[in-house]
Amino acid sequence: MVRENFPKREYRKNIQEGMAICKRCQAIYSNKYWFYDEKLYKENINKPDLSRILCPGCQKVENKQIDGIVILKSEVLKELKAEILNLIKHTYEKEKNKNPLSQIAELKVENNHIEIYTTTQFLAKHLGQVINKAYQGKLEIQKLPRENFIRVNWTK
Ligand SMILES: [Zn+2]
Repeated sequence: MVRENFPKREYRKNIQEGMAICKRCQAIYSNKYWFYDEKLYKENINKPDLSRILCPGCQKVENKQIDGIVILKSEVLKELKAEILNLIKHTYEKEKNKNPLSQIAELKVENNHIEIYTTTQFLAKHLGQVINKAYQGKLEIQKLPRENFIRVNWTK
C-alpha cells in the first residue's frame, strides 16, 4: 500500500522556527511532522509566538483539491443512515490521526445516496472498504491510469 507523503515544500515556507498549529483542524506541526495531540494543543494554543497556519490537508480542502470520491447508493441508507454516518466519521477520524493530509472536504447526504469527497485517494478507498466490510454490498474502485483521482462506488 502506498501512503501519501506531505508535500514538504508547500508548507515549510509558511513555517518559522518551532511549532505551528493548524487553525482549521488543530493539527500540530513539530519536528517536521503533523499530528494531533489535544493536550499539547491546549498547552500551546495561547503562546503568542506560535504560528497559526493551515496544515497540508486543510490547504487541500481550502483549494478544493479533491483526490477521491465515494458514492454510496442503497435503499438500506434510509434505515441505517445514522449508523453508516457514524462509521464514516469514526473511520475518518482514525485515518486523520494517522495522516492529517486525509480530510473529508465535503459530505452530501440524501435519502438513499451519500457522497464523500476526500483529499486523498487512500481515504476514499479505505472508506469504501470499511463500509463494504461492515455492510456487504458491491464495491467498485475506479482509478484512471495516470490520473490522481479515485472513484469508489458502493451499492447494495
Ligand atoms: Zn488542518
